[in-house]
Amino acid sequence: MIRLATLLSLTIALAAPSLVHADPPRSPALSQPMATIRPGDSLDSVLNRAGIAPALRAEAALALAGVYDLTDLRPGHRLQWVVDRDDPARLLRLSLFVEDGVEIALTFGGTATAERVEPPVRAVNRQETLILNGPLYDALMEHNAPERFAVDLTALLAGQVDFRRDLQGGETFALVWQEDQLPDGSVAGEPRLGYARLELADRVLELVASDAAGPVIVFEDGEAVQRSAAPILGARLSSVFGRRNHPVLGGVRMHTGIDYAAPVGTEVTATGAGRVAFAGTIRGYGLTVDIDHGGGVVTRYAHLSKIAEGVQEGSRTKAGDRIGAVGATGLVSGPNLHYEVRVDGRPVDPTDREALPEQEIASAEDLTALATWRRETGFAQPDTEDRG
Ligand SMILES: [Zn+2]
Repeated sequence: MIRLATLLSLTIALAAPSLVHADPPRSPALSQPMATIRPGDSLDSVLNRAGIAPALRAEAALALAGVYDLTDLRPGHRLQWVVDRDDPARLLRLSLFVEDGVEIALTFGGTATAERVEPPVRAVNRQETLILNGPLYDALMEHNAPERFAVDLTALLAGQVDFRRDLQGGETFALVWQEDQLPDGSVAGEPRLGYARLELADRVLELVASDAAGPVIVFEDGEAVQRSAAPILGARLSSVFGRRNHPVLGGVRMHTGIDYAAPVGTEVTATGAGRVAFAGTIRGYGLTVDIDHGGGVVTRYAHLSKIAEGVQEGSRTKAGDRIGAVGATGLVSGPNLHYEVRVDGRPVDPTDREALPEQEIASAEDLTALATWRRETGFAQPDTEDRG
């Protein structure tokens, strides 16, 4: 496992020799200004401030547009360009550094040409054992683990453990995930959780996610108790099931599901295998998808901004399949996903495992995956002798 510090020292070691072989002083006097995109900036406004000639600014924008959508430019992106010190309005080269270490490189010589340079990423397996003495988020930060796991794990384990109420302190929480690291040690894209093991005072919870988009299976003392995919990842639970003050209509009303606050466009995925029973608009709910999982269980995903292609009445879904995107359609005060579980037509608390009918939870492959994770992480099989 590569630690951040190792990567940093490696980078410094590699960078040092180039200082020795610096350009000879005879080379043309170049200057390499840099700028960071600030709120309200455009590529053109930054280059204009730098005194670049209008024709070159237009040429740069045109060439860039071929490989990068300039409307994706965000505060924090960096810009570096090369000009002749004697003619600072003339651009020679320009690099735009955007998300995940991607560089958009422009060369001027006759006509400008643009190229998208993907950084070398390295998939790194990481494993950390946290001791919980306070919020999960704090423990993750302490170990330089992805902060989004705090939300994802709380949601995925919500049927089994309440992190605020059920923990006494001192519990161990082992996590295994994969992340793509850039040469500077920073992480590109989203981390992929593979296995988690939470040791509570009276039981052991394990979570197996064999592939990033697939279902997550939760085991309690080695017995599969939940098969699901969270309907959304990296989102905050903003409203729980039950009676509440309605955010739009006012007054105390029954909230028939749970809400996740997330930006418009965030991916929404099916929480289980099933058949799409409805895809369209329902008054109040806005754009909605209902999935019938059999056995009288239906899940509902509401307030969507769009429904994924191919998702229509009768189509089949697997857990983790993309079905739409977060929106603010229907009766809402802001963008959120309303997630609802109905059993025989009656809404139940999606976080209450007892409310859901028993179903086939773990396949043979899931059990093999659990055994493999335990072996690879060095965790012993839980003691099953005292269980009847
Ligand atoms: Zn809701």
